[in-house]
Amino acid sequence: MWDQHMHCMFSGDSDADPVLMINSAINKGLDGICFTDHLDYDYKEEPGLFDLDIAAYEKRIKRLAIVLKEKGCPINIHWGIEIGLQPHITDKNNEVAKKYPFDLVIGSSHVVNGIDPYYPAFYKGKTEHEAYTEYFESILDNLHSGADFDVYGHIDYVVRYGPDKNKYYSYERYADIIDAILKEIISQGKGIELNTAGFKYGLGHSNPTEDVLKRYHELGGEIITVGADAHKPEHVAYDFDKVSNILKDAGFMYYTVFENRVPAFIKL
Ligand SMILES: [Zn+2]
Ligand SMILES: [Zn+2]
Repeated sequence: MWDQHMHCMFSGDSDADPVLMINSAINKGLDGICFTDHLDYDYKEEPGLFDLDIAAYEKRIKRLAIVLKEKGCPINIHWGIEIGLQPHITDKNNEVAKKYPFDLVIGSSHVVNGIDPYYPAFYKGKTEHEAYTEYFESILDNLHSGADFDVYGHIDYVVRYGPDKNKYYSYERYADIIDAILKEIISQGKGIELNTAGFKYGLGHSNPTEDVLKRYHELGGEIITVGADAHKPEHVAYDFDKVSNILKDAGFMYYTVFENRVPAFIKL
């Protein structure tokens, strides 16, 4: 498998040495990885926290990939980015996506109407259904804003942090809005990811859940990457032993690896 969602010291919320991330991936027998460090412009809670020194990040990872390949490193190392989408900064984000030679661009919703659902303030004065619906609606807004990305990250990220997390959350309860999101992503020729961090957060499910993955496949979705969203070496490929069965149960026979932002399909 490939783990195509991980962070290292270039992200504001990770201090992991990229060499240790790579070593962990090798120890876990992966075929390849893609670094996807955070860039979140206009992050109001902690301004500048998720700014990214893209030039330094590119230099470090690309150099590591070359040096390790010369030394006979058994895995492929790709270079990507996780861009925090917000409708009013789409142009600024799109410039970044176009300017650099990324293998993969993950577009994610980390900030909704100015607040990261990571913070309890996001839920204040709202029912859970209102808060989660607001999160999903913001994904649609980003999609309609013309954001440039390859796969949408962890599309039910909000349930990691809601007061009751995913206790009352299911695909059925949000079917209309989730269907609208999935159809729009498919019509734009883009994809989603299976993010295993949901297991790490104790949700007992991937992000998005298995039911959402199944629905995505039913609607004709084909592009699906897999990532653990690790911010530490020990979390690389977290619970990847579950991935093949989750994808097969959802109807997939392939998963997707991006190189130079072009999808390739790998048999499960
Ligand atoms: Zn994310
Ligand atoms: Zn991430």
